[in-house]
Amino acid sequence: MSGIVIEGVQKSFGMTSVLRGVSLTVAHDEFLSLVGPSGCGKTTLLRIIAGLEAVSAGTVQIAGREVTALRAADRDVAMVFQNYALYPHLTVRQNIGVPLVMRRLSAVERIPVVGRLLPGVATKRCQISADVVTAAEMLGIGALLERKPAQLSGGQRQRVALGRAIVRHPHAFLMDEPLSNLDAALRVTTRAEIVALHRRVGASTVYVTHDQSEAMTMSDRVAVMMDGQILQVGTPEAIYTNPQDLRVASFIGSPSINTFAAEIGPDGEVMIGSVSSGLGSTGTGPAILAIRPENIAPAETGIAARVDHLEYLGESLLVHARLLEGDELVICRLPPEARQQLRRGEMIRLRPDPAKALLFDGAGRRRPAQVRIRDVVHG
Ligand code: ATP
Repeated sequence: MSGIVIEGVQKSFGMTSVLRGVSLTVAHDEFLSLVGPSGCGKTTLLRIIAGLEAVSAGTVQIAGREVTALRAADRDVAMVFQNYALYPHLTVRQNIGVPLVMRRLSAVERIPVVGRLLPGVATKRCQISADVVTAAEMLGIGALLERKPAQLSGGQRQRVALGRAIVRHPHAFLMDEPLSNLDAALRVTTRAEIVALHRRVGASTVYVTHDQSEAMTMSDRVAVMMDGQILQVGTPEAIYTNPQDLRVASFIGSPSINTFAAEIGPDGEVMIGSVSSGLGSTGTGPAILAIRPENIAPAETGIAARVDHLEYLGESLLVHARLLEGDELVICRLPPEARQQLRRGEMIRLRPDPAKALLFDGAGRRRPAQVRIRDVVHG
């Protein structure tokens, strides 16, 4: 099978277990993001795929070949780091050409002046030069080939690093926070460029980021990692609307999903303290009710709350409110016009959308039962 297949990978540094049984498949033309909080093991997993770190257990296959024991140089992958890792004394042309020179020329052929006199070297160098120009033009840096890294902006340096990765058509691209040194505006445009580049070159791409918006906007699928494990892998939409674990639900989305300690009564009513949420479910016992800010809104009837704070964002209004019972904070995302109708300190009733509300058990796993609407209690 082509693509990347990771099975049962574990990694410990001394006594510290950093990856605790990770399995993941990335299709041959897929863009997959690894996202998760700092220290969850994303970079370690990427380095294991690259061959820069050995596994403690498990296997890695790339393009149908088991590579677990192979050196990085023999794995046919290209890695792009956040700090670009360019050679400061080489020009852009030379930086992009390094992987081709290393691959296509022998040690003798690489010797300056003398190497060039050997038969066939001139032709090989010509081909390398043509490939470098093609890659540079694809990235819009064709005019910068004679500059040194110090004469480039951050965004241009990042393109050189990308050029060096794509020039040899590797089977997989591994990118570790490649945009984190760019300013906010450049990050957004470069995101789109990396996605377009991926479509053109069409190789498996694993993209590490702690920025969920990057993961959500760029990827075919997102793998959410926490504490050395992958909690869920799915399309951005599936991860957002159908999280199977409360930690996934809470990590993805900004502002964060609202969560309430709840109790499902014997008649299936989902209660927050002594107040009905207006929702019903099967099963009984303690639960956690989770509702994204855009899925709860003021209504005639519903959970009583007091408006704490209004945050006008232009395209929407964030209403920060506190439940009257329990004092829990809830954030609602409303159309901006709602600003006219709401005042700080005002009492409102909040109604969750039953089709979008999520129920988790006490351990944070998604309850299988569908949430359904019930008559909303007025009390
Ligand atoms: P970040 O987003 O901050 O880069 P990450 O999810 O990429 O974090 P890793 O860099 O993979 O996390 O690190 C995972 C854990 O492994 C961390 O607790 C880190 O301290 C530890 N770790 C990583 N490399 C080593 C090492 N060489 N020796 C010991 N511990 C290490």
